[in-house]
Amino acid sequence: MTRMQTISVLGATGSIGRSTLDVIARHPDRFRVAALTASRHVDDLAELCARHGAAYACVADASLATALKQSLARCGATAKVLCGAEGLVQAAALSEVDCVMAAIVGAAGLEPALAAARAGKKLLLANKEALVMAGPVFMDTVRRHGATLLPIDSEHNAIFQCLPVSLAGEPNTSGIRRILLTGSGGPFRSRPRSELREVSPDQACAHPNWVMGRKISVDSATMMNKGLEVIEAHWLFGVRPEQIQVVVHPQSVIHSMVEYVDGSVLAQLGNPDMRTPIAQALSYPDRIDAGVPLLDLYAMGALTFEQPDFERFPGLRLAYEALRAGGTAPSILNAANEIAVAAFLGGRLPFLKISEVIEETLQSIPCAAIGTLEDVIGADRRARTRAVHIVDRHRSRVA
Ligand code: NDP
Repeated sequence: MTRMQTISVLGATGSIGRSTLDVIARHPDRFRVAALTASRHVDDLAELCARHGAAYACVADASLATALKQSLARCGATAKVLCGAEGLVQAAALSEVDCVMAAIVGAAGLEPALAAARAGKKLLLANKEALVMAGPVFMDTVRRHGATLLPIDSEHNAIFQCLPVSLAGEPNTSGIRRILLTGSGGPFRSRPRSELREVSPDQACAHPNWVMGRKISVDSATMMNKGLEVIEAHWLFGVRPEQIQVVVHPQSVIHSMVEYVDGSVLAQLGNPDMRTPIAQALSYPDRIDAGVPLLDLYAMGALTFEQPDFERFPGLRLAYEALRAGGTAPSILNAANEIAVAAFLGGRLPFLKISEVIEETLQSIPCAAIGTLEDVIGADRRARTRAVHIVDRHRSRVA
């Protein structure tokens, strides 16, 4: 018999959170929901708590705790209310919880994901920004507290699936020559740079293959998402930057590949649906139905591959440079990207300026070694202040 797993879903109201709950609901004999969290969407959160029988509901914006209570009562849900940054940490570290899905978007997800690692949980990591900004601290926390880290990003989950597993059940990275990190190229893959000047947030968020939250959709359009994933792969699999090659693969069917020193290349394929990596990680090492339609290779016909264009998509170049620079450079890159993307989504910055804001922020803040979490948080704060200033300067120039 399979043991029942109790799960907290951080970022339950988002795209990954809802896909996770969809998989969980297909297997009531395996999974039970403990806590669900959101930032501000209390009605959606309450409705999810009622539907999935959550024991705790947490809203990150503490001023909405009363609204959440009222919403839960309207839905007939009995979940206990938690709130604020402390509530998120509590939801991640509850003693009855076996497994935590870390699917908060951006740096806000770092502390709760670390709390889950500190509590030695099985940690399903979708929140790539946490690993990008705090790689060494994050991996050290996972190791020291015996947490099990499973990647949810479809590329890293594919790589994980292509790695041999040691007798102890750990992925073994010996014999790897390169990681071939695939990416669709996003909605602007074949558009000349001159046509990208005027693109709107809705155009940038219209991804050809994946339905995702707005921040990661913009990251896909700038290809910064692939850059963040290069850094994520470095920390997850211990590979050097020059061992990670980005391959543009517009069909999003091969989710990534691992090339070995003997010339073998192993790939993981599937329809572009996040429920596959989520189900793989939830049930690991077993396999369960994810509700994903079968991959029809006859209908697919052809799979194609291209080199990425580092000039049209400078975000990718900046991410490699930050990874090579090391220390706080990836934290600065991530913070500046979050500010620039939020400004673009809010109509305050043109699309092509996103990478300029990131590059100028990286140039103007000295990169330092990371010893502790405080080093990361300090760099993140300085980079945000600087990036906001750069965005404001741009706005005052065009006003
Ligand atoms: P969404 O924007 O769809 O959802 C984000 C979730 O985080 C929501 O539940 C939101 O709550 C919550 N949230 C937002 N800000 C805060 C905050 N400050 N504090 C606490 N909670 C917050 O994002 P996605 O689901 O698309 O992405 C989530 C993470 O997964 C990202 O790191 C992304 O890079 C990664 N990822 C996503 C993929 C995808 O297909 N979507 C694929 C691979 C990785 P509320 O609804 O109240 O705003």
